[in-house]
Amino acid sequence: MKIAIAKEIEVGERRVALNPDTVARLVKQGLEIWVESGAGEGSFFGNDAYEAAGAKIISDTGVLWGEADVLLKVGLPKEHEIHQLREGSVLISFLNPLGNPEVIQQLANRRVTAFSMELIPRTSRAQSMDALSSQAGVAGYKAVLIAAAASPKFFPMLTTAAGTIKPAKVFVMGAGVAGLQAIATARRLGAVVEAFDIRPAVKEEVQSLGAKFVEVALEEETVATGGYAKEISEASKQRTQEVVTEHVKNADVVITTAQVPGKKAPLLVTEEMVQQMHPGSVIVDLAAEQGGNCACTEPGKDVVRNGVTIIGPINLPSSMPVHASQMYAKNISTLLQYLVKNGELQLNFEDDIVASTCVTHAGEILNQRVKEAFAVEGLKV
Ligand code: NAD
Repeated sequence: MKIAIAKEIEVGERRVALNPDTVARLVKQGLEIWVESGAGEGSFFGNDAYEAAGAKIISDTGVLWGEADVLLKVGLPKEHEIHQLREGSVLISFLNPLGNPEVIQQLANRRVTAFSMELIPRTSRAQSMDALSSQAGVAGYKAVLIAAAASPKFFPMLTTAAGTIKPAKVFVMGAGVAGLQAIATARRLGAVVEAFDIRPAVKEEVQSLGAKFVEVALEEETVATGGYAKEISEASKQRTQEVVTEHVKNADVVITTAQVPGKKAPLLVTEEMVQQMHPGSVIVDLAAEQGGNCACTEPGKDVVRNGVTIIGPINLPSSMPVHASQMYAKNISTLLQYLVKNGELQLNFEDDIVASTCVTHAGEILNQRVKEAFAVEGLKV
């Protein structure tokens, strides 16, 4: 059974699906690993390191894609890549199936068995496969470093001969995986941190990291099945804005991370709110690629409005490729080992991890949420 690691060709993608250490572990277990030449370059893993780990380096992209039994990737495959895959082969990658139904259709047409890393269930059994969490943690950490670098102020309190410096005030909006890592990082840098989320359950987690939780009493259920946030009503949005405006206004740094799966990111920081912020304040909007939590965000750009810098970073995990790849490799190899028993792929569609994650098999689209996304797009399943 050949497990192949493709070189990512998306501009700006520096991660790789397996790092050499993980390759060595899989080779020890008897798996044959092929690595496309240069696949690890962006993450500083050379061909020699993969060879030393027991992998075979493949220079011909067509051979790698066409002969792989299982192809491992980080980002969405391009159409020409999908056409190179062998019918009946397996692809495991981030596929953004709810946002890219046409790619899922191409994979089904090619009769590829595709697993989407976004759909790993958020259960304790699947925790070590949870790539959304590992990569969100990287993004939350980096967002704070970007904000600290862009801020004209220190984060920590300093008592110096030149006077006392007050600590920076950081307001984190959305306290999921990325938000919690942002809180922890900002606290480590010595900032005073406040955080807000529409899921009341995160209050204790926020407080345990040494931040203050900003409470907004909403008269509706804000949590969907699976623990994710729901899209809230206009009245609740209004209520939320009334409460958070003061906190945004007083912050030196605002980090926004709010998302609702399958929907455009909720608008949390309006233009009026930005206008009320102090010049020199910084907003880092981690939801930039999903439409942004701030009205002024432009994905991939730094925008300045009345002296406030609004940063909309794209693919932050790729900016820390060594550890992002290491963590992703752990996630994807755990799923791979779960699917492969005695050197054979064994798919039990009754198993919740397989059932949630497998989006196409034998020419069919399997996942219910993906089928619903097709219905919204008006595509045929
Ligand atoms: P996410 O990226 O979908 O959203 C980020 C945060 O934005 C969430 O905390 C969400 O509540 C918040 N949000 C949404 N709309 C908002 C609004 N209008 N205002 C303010 N905040 C808003 O979420 P995520 O970080 O991927 O994780 C979300 C859930 O998954 C959590 O319940 C988390 O505990 C759970 N989870 C569980 C496991 C596990 O059990 N293994 C692992 C990871 C995450």
